[in-house]
Amino acid sequence: MRFLPVFLDLHSGAVVLVGAGDLVRAKLRLLASAGARVRWYATDGNHDLGGLGADDAARVELATGDPLTADLNGVIAILCAGAGSIGPAMSARAKAVGLPVNVMDDLEHSTFIFPAIVDRGDVVVAVGTGGASPVVARRVRERIEAVLPARIGELAGFIGRWRKTIHGLIGEFPLRRRFWERVVDGPIGALVLAGRSEEADAALKDIRNVSEFAGALPSGTAEGSVTLVGAGPGDPDLLTVKALRALQDADVIFYDELVTPEILDRARRDASRVPVGRRVGKPGIGQDAINRCLIEAAKSGQRAVRLKGGDPFIFGRGGEEIKALRQANVSYSVIPGITAGLGAAAQFEVPLTFRNEALRVTFLTAHKARDAEAVDWSTLTDIAMTIVVYMGMTAAPSVRAGLLAAGRSPQTPVGVFARATRVDAAAAIGTLDELPDLVEKIAGGPAILIIGDVVAHSAPARHQQLNQLASYFQVAAE
Ligand code: SAH
Repeated sequence: MRFLPVFLDLHSGAVVLVGAGDLVRAKLRLLASAGARVRWYATDGNHDLGGLGADDAARVELATGDPLTADLNGVIAILCAGAGSIGPAMSARAKAVGLPVNVMDDLEHSTFIFPAIVDRGDVVVAVGTGGASPVVARRVRERIEAVLPARIGELAGFIGRWRKTIHGLIGEFPLRRRFWERVVDGPIGALVLAGRSEEADAALKDIRNVSEFAGALPSGTAEGSVTLVGAGPGDPDLLTVKALRALQDADVIFYDELVTPEILDRARRDASRVPVGRRVGKPGIGQDAINRCLIEAAKSGQRAVRLKGGDPFIFGRGGEEIKALRQANVSYSVIPGITAGLGAAAQFEVPLTFRNEALRVTFLTAHKARDAEAVDWSTLTDIAMTIVVYMGMTAAPSVRAGLLAAGRSPQTPVGVFARATRVDAAAAIGTLDELPDLVEKIAGGPAILIIGDVVAHSAPARHQQLNQLASYFQVAAE
């Protein structure tokens, strides 16, 4: 990110606008209608304000003289049409006195740029692309326009009016935040969004005990909780809407080593982030310590999120965690995630079940060779069963040996799918007999193994067949 979006207080001074032509007039309209005082140097001498309403026009000062030597006292920003040498010269002057400057269509000489704007009164959304593509910014703006309730600005205004009063009544910040969340998410917010602000005012006045409304415990502090959240296999767009909301509401996030930075980026900026998984070369803090952290966080009134790769209940030790939370009397909830097996299956087009061909799916873990030896492979020989193996890379030779000894065909199709749904995802396809070699081919985990006839339908298997066919024809032609 080169340009950080900040909001400029237009009441704090004048904006200098230098230039002529349609683009400059468009900016003049934008600035004036936003309430700015504009000092305009029309470089072609045409000061026509056609199109501006009287109020807006009254805030435009028609300046004469050379903007390069003009007094910049009380100026808060400079905006300049870039044609000719005036842009770079104005930019140099602005930089010399420390004023933000935008030279239109000239990133090199600009220290700020204009975002695409969604304007709903008090709610303003700025969309930028670092100056790269105004078209993309406009498309993003359209999408945001489509999902924002029309009266969202009124809702912000409503809260703005009540803010001081509630601040006086609820001293504690976390409790106050929850108070406003309940207002925004509940019937009072709905009244404002429906255009019934007076009724909303009355309903808010009617709240007898604001702390209780905010969900305070008898001790007066906020009630804490733990949410187990499935982060999915890596692609942040695979987070559920509920997971995203939990991440946005969190005070503290305890996350696994499988959780990608792109996913953490979607969390509330102010939330503290605590890694509790294994790191390269370092063990994790251990399950008991994790359970204690979760309990302590909730008991201190925080909203804790336990963020796990994939789904919390598929080889994620979520069951142990909620047991500990229950025993400690901590309130909790679970938000499912897309487990790695499903993420890989979707990305590489492995239908885990297939009419008449694959009627069952088994999720299995074989963490170490020792674990693999403990598996009863004789229950996994049904050819209509797809087997998805988690944590199976190091144990791949034992998985192969176990299944072959139990009688599954060495020709059974298998796939090793690494870093599924991440940008560096990779797959290796072959037969059960070749499994350890396939694992070798994949440069690093995490990876899952899928074993069963359905792997022959996968996209990599189809490509492999096409390539074999192509080389066959090539040999035939030679
Ligand atoms: N709860 C997780 C699984 C945790 S066990 C889930 O539901 O996905 C860790 C194992 O998950 C890894 O050893 C690997 O086998 C698998 N895994 C996790 N993320 C993966 C990914 N992006 N691609 C392939 N396998 C993955």
